[in-house]
Parts: sequence; C-alpha cells; structure tokens
Amino acid sequence: MKKKPFVTLEKLQEIIKEYPTPFHLYDEKGIRENAAALKKAFSWNKGFKEFFAVKATPNPFLIDILREYGCGCDCSSMTELMMAKACGCQGGDIMFSSNDTPPEEFRYCDSIGGIINLDDITHIPFVEEAVGHIPETISCRFNPGGLFRISNDIMDNPGDAKYGMTEEQIFKAFRILKAKGASKFGIHAFLASNTVTNDYYPMLARIMFDLAVRLHRETGADIAFVNLSGGIGIPYSPDQEPNDIYAIGEGVRKEFEEVMVPAGLENTAIYTELGRFMMGPYGCLVTKAIHEKHTHKEYIGVDACAVNLMRPAMYGAYHHITVMGKEKEPCDHLYDVTGSLCENNDKFAIDRYLPEVEMGDLLVIHDTGAHGFSMGYNYNGKLKSAEILLKEDGSFKMIRRAETEKDYFATFDCFPELYSKLV
Ligand SMILES: *Cc1c(COP(=O)(O)O)cnc(C)c1O
Repeated sequence: MKKKPFVTLEKLQEIIKEYPTPFHLYDEKGIRENAAALKKAFSWNKGFKEFFAVKATPNPFLIDILREYGCGCDCSSMTELMMAKACGCQGGDIMFSSNDTPPEEFRYCDSIGGIINLDDITHIPFVEEAVGHIPETISCRFNPGGLFRISNDIMDNPGDAKYGMTEEQIFKAFRILKAKGASKFGIHAFLASNTVTNDYYPMLARIMFDLAVRLHRETGADIAFVNLSGGIGIPYSPDQEPNDIYAIGEGVRKEFEEVMVPAGLENTAIYTELGRFMMGPYGCLVTKAIHEKHTHKEYIGVDACAVNLMRPAMYGAYHHITVMGKEKEPCDHLYDVTGSLCENNDKFAIDRYLPEVEMGDLLVIHDTGAHGFSMGYNYNGKLKSAEILLKEDGSFKMIRRAETEKDYFATFDCFPELYSKLV
C-alpha cells in the first residue's frame, strides 16, 4: 500500500508561516473516522468501552475528541490520572493499569473513581493500606507466561514480561478480594504489542473468556468486564496491510458467543485500552532539511531529532518518510536522515531511498500520532516541539506550544535567577 500524508504541501506551507518546524501534526478527520469505526465494530457488546491509553498521546484536545465517541482513559501515573480527570472523566471512565505503583497514586485514583487494575497479588494489602479499603469494582492483570504465538509466529514473550499475575495467583486474588468486599471484577491482559493481524484480539479474547468462565465458576465472582488492553497495531511500513477493525470485532464476537454466552456471562462488557491504533496513523512529524553531508555516506540533517521521535533510535522502528512535493519523483537517492543529537543512533532512517532532497524541503515522518511526542525527552538540552491539530475544515490550531529555553531552566528552583542571567 502506498503511504500518503494526510496533509498537502500547500497546507504545510500555510502552517509553517505561523509555526516553525519541527512539530507534530494531527489529523482530526482520521481520528474521528477511526474512533467511530472502533465503536461500531464492537457495538454488539452492550458495555463496550475503549479507554484510550493516555501515554500514547497525552494531549487533552485530542482526548476530548475521543471522549465524543464514548472513550475513557487508561492511565498509569499520577499526571495521567490528573489529565483524565481534567478531561472530564468521571468514575467508570478511568482505568488505572499501572505497575510498580506508589501508594499516593492508588489513593488519588480511588478518590476520582478510577478502576484499579492490580498488576500483582501483593498489591491487595498494598492498596488496602494506601486507600483504606478494597474498592467494590476491581480488576486483575493476567500473565499466562510462555510465548504468545499465532499459528507458528511468535508474537511476543509474556513469560519475560514484568506485568501481571500467574493463573494460580489470579484465582487466589479473586477469592481474597471477594472476602474483602469486592463485588464487580475485571480481568486484563496485554500479551503482544503492535500486532498487524486481525487474529490477535480474537485469540487473546479466547484465552481471557476461558479464564473468565473458570473464575466465575470457581470463585462465584461477577465478571463485569474483560479488558483486552492495547496491542492492535498499525502498518508502519508500506508493505503491511492495515488491520480490519470490523474483522477484529467479529472475531471477538464469535469467541464471546462460543464461550461467554453459554456460561451465562452474556452481560460482561468488553473493554479495550488502545493507544497506537487510535492515534498512530493520524499524527506525523513535520521537519525541514537543513543540512546535507557527503562523506562515507550521504546524510540529510533535519531540524527534528530523536527527542521529537525516539522510536527509530530506541527500537530501530521504521517510520515512512515523504519528501513533500516530490511524491512523483523516483526514489533514487540513498540517505541516512539524521537529527542533531550527539548520538549516532539519532537517525530517522538508515539507507533509505528517497527522491533527491534539497535544503529547505519539508519532510513528513509518518505514523507519529502515538508513542511519538509523548516519549520525548530533553537530552542535549533539546526542547520538545509544538503539537498542532489539522481540523476537518482545513483550519489548524496549536494544541500544545513548543517548549522554550525558559521551560528548560524552570526547574532550577535553587537558582531562580539562572535564566534571567542568560538573556
Ligand atoms: C501501552 C499500553 C497500552 C496501549 O498500547 P498500544 O500498543 O498503544 O495499543 C494499553 N494498556 C497498557 C497497560 C499499556 O501499558
């Protein structure tokens, strides 16, 4: 599949008159259409709810769009909980799928009506101590161990993951929680990340539904929801087929009807905590070519760096690049596209064939809408970029300003005049 930016060169030229590169740009139309499709694909399940994984794209303007489609928030830290609250999330709209959690975060989560998803059996006394009681609605995270396979492909390695409880522990946890007054239970598992196959969710659902039925039978617990978490992926590379969310929804439905309905669990809600699937394709990093360098390799230096998008440096992740205005030209130049960090892994692309890049060309780095801006950091004293929303009517709005030098120096409370001495 050919990858096409959601924005035109003309529109970008308009935007850069107001906001200098680099910046992350988001596509409101794409976000809306996708959120509506997800909702429809799971509309067969009465209680279906997506809790957007806030860590993927923690921007209240974008979360507000998803809220219109009934989405809540999945959080894993104090500030993410605060953002969910600020976005108007009420009790039942917040899932707290955290791990290694400090006591004050459990306390705050409970005080704003969030659902605690316990990562471990030892967190039962920990929550009881931190919160003062065991919440009526509570969830437990499951980790079956071993390798997670689809056909013969290894999708991921849960046995090596720090998250979740063993099967034996989850049965024990349910009994303890029930004895301590919990009355509505959820189960959760995240067994493979960025899966570009329609089979992942149905396979995970089968495992979770089987577990739900056994937990219900053996402990008498009311299984209020099964949380399939994140993991539905996106096609970063042009040779990948996108997932079909309707096929995924139908696949989960089939398992639900086979396993849950005969066991009398037809009222159990399906929850999801998708991040990447909700936002990934609907964001891009816009950057400008500012240097070319011809040494042992051909380099294009851009004005963004790994601070703006660390996935290539961190995981060797592929992000497609379009040289704007040159879509029809042959990709006959072999480049490394680099940022400015003093780190040789600061490369958005290595040995990538692109059209000839000239200084001043705008490059669109695709699929940065999730785990893009949000993974940013300040290494080399680099500052985080702005985030801009391209609206459905073609207008655009800054939804987070770029960091300034003043922000960078702002945490030196011990030396308050530091910044003023510099400017
Ligand atoms: C990261 C994460 C998600 C979202 O994962 P995606 O791959 O973005 O869908 C959901 N739930 C939990 C607990 C996570 O850690």
